[in-house]
Amino acid sequence: MTDLTALTIAEARDQLKARAITATELTSAYLKAIETANGALNAYIAVTPDKALDMAKASDARLAAGKAGALEGIPLGIKDLFGTEGVHTQACSHILDGFKPHYESTVTSNLWADGAVMLGKLNMDEFAMGSSNESSYYGPVKNPWRANGSNADLVPGGSSGGSAAAVAARLCAGATATDTGGSIRQPAAFTGTVGIKPTYGRCSRWGIVAFASSLDQAGPIARDVRDAAILLKSMASVDSKDTTSVDIAIPDYESIIGKPLTGLKIGIPKEYRVEGMPEEIEKLWQQGIAWLKDAGASIVDISLPHTKYALPAYYIVAPAEASSNLARYDGVRFGLRVPGKDIVDMYERTRASGFGDEVKRRIMIGTYVLSAGYYDAYYLQAQKVRTLIKKDFEDVFHAGVDAILTPATPSAAFGIADQDLASDPVKMYLNDIFTVTVNMAGLPGIAVPAGLDSRGLPLGLQLIGRPFDEETLFQTAYVIEQAAGRFNAPKWW
Ligand code: GLN
Repeated sequence: MTDLTALTIAEARDQLKARAITATELTSAYLKAIETANGALNAYIAVTPDKALDMAKASDARLAAGKAGALEGIPLGIKDLFGTEGVHTQACSHILDGFKPHYESTVTSNLWADGAVMLGKLNMDEFAMGSSNESSYYGPVKNPWRANGSNADLVPGGSSGGSAAAVAARLCAGATATDTGGSIRQPAAFTGTVGIKPTYGRCSRWGIVAFASSLDQAGPIARDVRDAAILLKSMASVDSKDTTSVDIAIPDYESIIGKPLTGLKIGIPKEYRVEGMPEEIEKLWQQGIAWLKDAGASIVDISLPHTKYALPAYYIVAPAEASSNLARYDGVRFGLRVPGKDIVDMYERTRASGFGDEVKRRIMIGTYVLSAGYYDAYYLQAQKVRTLIKKDFEDVFHAGVDAILTPATPSAAFGIADQDLASDPVKMYLNDIFTVTVNMAGLPGIAVPAGLDSRGLPLGLQLIGRPFDEETLFQTAYVIEQAAGRFNAPKWW
């Protein structure tokens, strides 16, 4: 029999509906792949085979009864940030040891309601803080890709490193992920997969462990643009449990795929040409421009003048919100408790041993920028900068630009335990230079693979859209995907 894990979601869906394969066969193929390859890649931190097979069986029954949902029988991996009822949910932190929620996040509920099957929980940077998946309590994830002629382990990007690696290595058909400053798009770019961060408010945040609530959004990582469109349609919803989710009709994203780009205006922001950016990235960007032009889009140069303030402002706003959100982990309500001589001592010991270094760094920065005397100088100032960044985008969209094309990341995947990055957190933060603006402005952004660098590693381009216009992103990204071709990671099993 052909390898079932080679099927995209769209292909598997069609074969399941035609009863050419069963959900149980498909799920078993993925469980076998996980069993073989996960020891090496560390993409899953909890596998749920019994649950997966039960769900697959129920899918087969619905398929037989002609009652299939949009994702009936499709096996997915779930980032450990999503609350999954009765199943390991720890945001890959030690402080949430043993936590199994009594609830299900809205996004995962939506997926199960459409018939998807859960394979397990995916590794990530602790509390989604990071760009390399190295801050996970469960250890780093390996990128399934290798540079030409090298066997050195590379990072899959972060924070959704487990999601991206699992999709690239075919350990799931698709995965959920979240993006606060780039955590869907950067790992997608590092692994040759497609990742979309939808508009803030498109997906409910309810039941997802909070990092920075005004920036966090859920979205899919998938093997191709069509699969990402199918997954987002299912994940998105307005939700009375998240008042920032928005009641705007969710289009059938898949139906836009393949539509010509005639009449679309694509903006190229000069501020995304940063100093020290490798020549290869510039070349890739130019190639992307040429592809979109060939497909009928018109290209215009634009300026987003406040771009250079986005990263510093993000690293004030995100830690500020994180320091507040993470105050709830006190050893009383969830997870780890380290006993102390009194309650304050217990809090201190629990938080000291429960949080990793990067999380502690964010809590300290966040507490500092929110403290009396510094609030106006840092937090308030960063909020003002955020408004200016948003206005830059509003101005170009107002002038008729439909979408903006940029590189997704300033480099390809780097090595695990890269000393240069490990010794300087600010260097690690620079990974997000092209992605954080999108979160600051609440806009949708998609990363799509567009080529390989000279070492044979995937590189991605990013498209940024108007609020709630994910459709144009799928339409445009598909053109890039068609021109660039698909990039398959080496097989691990
Ligand atoms: N890398 C960024 C950070 O560490 C973004 C993380 C994310 O999007 N969750 O904050």
